[in-house]
Amino acid sequence: MRQARAGGIIARMTPMHTLPSPTHGQPRRVAVIGAGPAGLMAAEVLAQHGASVDVYDAMPSAGRKFLLAGRGGMNITHSEPQPDFLPRYGNRREQLAPFVRRFDAERLRQWIHDLGIETFVGTSGRVFPREMKAAPLLRAWLHRLREAGVRFHTRHRWLGWDADGALRLANPDGEIAVQADAVVLALGGASWSRLGSDGAWVPLLQERQVEVAPLLPSNCGFELDWSEHLRERFAGEPVKPVVASVALPSGGVQNRRGEFIVTAQGIEGGLVYAMSAALRESIATEGSARLYLDLLPDWTLEKVEAELAHPRGARSMSSHLQSRLHLKGVKAALLREIVSRDDFADPARLARAIKALPLTVLRPRPIDEAISSAGGVSFEALDDALMLRALPGVFCAGEMLDWEAPTGGYLLTACFATGHAAGNGAWEWLNAADRTDKLPAPQQEQHK
Ligand SMILES: Cc1cc2nc3c(=O)[nH]c(=O)nc-3n(C[C@H](O)[C@H](O)[C@H](O)COP(=O)(O)OP(=O)(O)OC[C@H]3O[C@@H](n4cnc5c(N)ncnc54)[C@H](O)[C@@H]3O)c2cc1C
Repeated sequence: MRQARAGGIIARMTPMHTLPSPTHGQPRRVAVIGAGPAGLMAAEVLAQHGASVDVYDAMPSAGRKFLLAGRGGMNITHSEPQPDFLPRYGNRREQLAPFVRRFDAERLRQWIHDLGIETFVGTSGRVFPREMKAAPLLRAWLHRLREAGVRFHTRHRWLGWDADGALRLANPDGEIAVQADAVVLALGGASWSRLGSDGAWVPLLQERQVEVAPLLPSNCGFELDWSEHLRERFAGEPVKPVVASVALPSGGVQNRRGEFIVTAQGIEGGLVYAMSAALRESIATEGSARLYLDLLPDWTLEKVEAELAHPRGARSMSSHLQSRLHLKGVKAALLREIVSRDDFADPARLARAIKALPLTVLRPRPIDEAISSAGGVSFEALDDALMLRALPGVFCAGEMLDWEAPTGGYLLTACFATGHAAGNGAWEWLNAADRTDKLPAPQQEQHK
């Protein structure tokens, strides 16, 4: 059954409950919505199984955020062993573990090599494509997908389901309705919305009784109330090396050595991103977060105290700091910014501030600026194969699921791994015994 309508095209495929099974020669139709790494991986798995796969994406081309991720040096996964790798997913490690174990860093690297792209392990253990870029990988991958029969429909924005359970997709010519035997949603989070992932899918799933945790900025910058002096003189300056500590809302303290950048609004950069979950959660519970900086991580408190206790004669404390501790520039400015005049003049109190400078972190920067987002489709809403319990036949993958991870290749690894699992899950679901006869049009049933 096919229909076409002038203006807004209705491309109505055969309703799924009357589709012949694959054994009768007709492949199952699967719609994958979202052409980021998670959706493309699901499409690949399904095409390999023999499904007829259509990939829809709202943007004019596939993988825009993936390409951006490759711009500063694509860190695609990490070489550390699984016992170290899995805890990077924090309180979602249990949920993600089965997927990441099945499609782990080693398998991911092999998959990249099969695309003709070499990888190497950096000194930090991070894994990169040899050329550091995403574009050659994406080009080779899209070519392989097309060769495998995957059809791409760009500029097709998913709008939910119509009354018949068909997928509503808006394209430049109007709206089409597409029936599919199974659907994989891989719509991304809500950062860098101009690259396609705008989180507009959240109400579409909530309307269908799917639990979605609010999308929040992750791996993001934070705002502090800097003085005009600090903002004007030091915005853009890197602060390094430091050890940052933040109390975890669940108890304990997160410590990390690294560097960050002072911005006009606050702080950003690798070290801050790594602590973003703890900072964000502290702010949510306390109203603000305390981030302690050890400005001289290679010096003990005793040594700092001893150096500051040296007589400084007529020298100012600032030049004393510079000559005895080599503390100058932005680090010295941060001390002046936070430490009271009295404490600054007191060597013992100043030494303690140098080793644990308390910054009051007010709020995360807007989600659109973040590297990734936390929150998303709750794992309770999904079965073990990443199928939505409320919408049989609809699978979810990638950053749209409720997990977060620091940078270091963990984000892409989980996107690939869940895309892989959703693709396999959809295929297995389609092939489950008696599916065709016993479950007439699960989406239609659910979506009316
Ligand atoms: C600046 C930057 C650097 C990064 N660097 C790294 C890195 O080095 N390593 C790493 O591991 N991760 C990195 N990431 C994160 C990584 O890119 C993402 O986690 C990953 O792309 C998410 O994959 P995804 O397939 O789940 O979603 P996305 O890549 O966001 O893809 C989702 C797709 O769905 C489409 N879509 C959304 N809504 C609709 C709709 N309603 N209808 C149709 N299509 C829709 C979008 O257009 C998009 O193409 C970086 C991110 C950024 C922003």
